[in-house]
Amino acid sequence: MYVLWQKLKRYNIIFLLKFTIQVIIAILKSLINLFFPKVCYACTTYLLDNEETICTNCRHDLPTTNFHFSNDDSVKKVLRGRANIEHATALFRFEKEGPVQQLIHSLKYKGYEHIGELLGDWLGGELAELKTYQNIDMVIPVPMHPKKLKKRGYNQVTKFGQQIAEALNVAYVDDVLIKITNTTSQTTKKRVARWSNSNELFALRNISKIENKHILLVDDIITTGATLEACCLVLNQAKHLKISIATMAIA
Ligand SMILES: [Zn+2]
Repeated sequence: MYVLWQKLKRYNIIFLLKFTIQVIIAILKSLINLFFPKVCYACTTYLLDNEETICTNCRHDLPTTNFHFSNDDSVKKVLRGRANIEHATALFRFEKEGPVQQLIHSLKYKGYEHIGELLGDWLGGELAELKTYQNIDMVIPVPMHPKKLKKRGYNQVTKFGQQIAEALNVAYVDDVLIKITNTTSQTTKKRVARWSNSNELFALRNISKIENKHILLVDDIITTGATLEACCLVLNQAKHLKISIATMAIA
């Protein structure tokens, strides 16, 4: 009888201890949420406990292009006559002052690198289901100049590209296409236009890695296509190269 009583007491103490710890953790979590509430990176409303990075509404309402599902060639059209592209798509339509701008701004300038992971998982998961993107050999990011990379700490396209590469089960290769000229916000459009027609912006290293390959070039936003055009111009120094493009958004 005594032994049984001892056993019961011990179980009760362990149970009580576990319960107390759980309560303390719950209180701490609520306090953290109260003082540092998680908000949606697209629309800034408060996130629920089961939501990460963006809210459920934004998941449904963000302006996805679905170009890759409908074989829409809007991204290819931007580069028509300037670069030879196999397939091209963008996850979202970029609208000024809209949630996509908010999302990409937070990714680029506020240090929220993990937004790139979310977008890469999103687009990568969709591309992995499509026959058109099955013969991609590797994912290559539009590179950042080493000086800019040091200043920002990360290339906003890295996580996006890595997640797409993982979804497609191919390599992520960032030692082939290199940025050699540091373009800053002070750089004039005229100079960029001149650069994009020459080989002054980007350079190739380890060229043999991409010969006879089909690469998926990834970037954040395609607007005029000047950057991607400059990349393609340099990449095409490699023999028998096929280029497809995937961006987070199209403006
Ligand atoms: Zn939202």
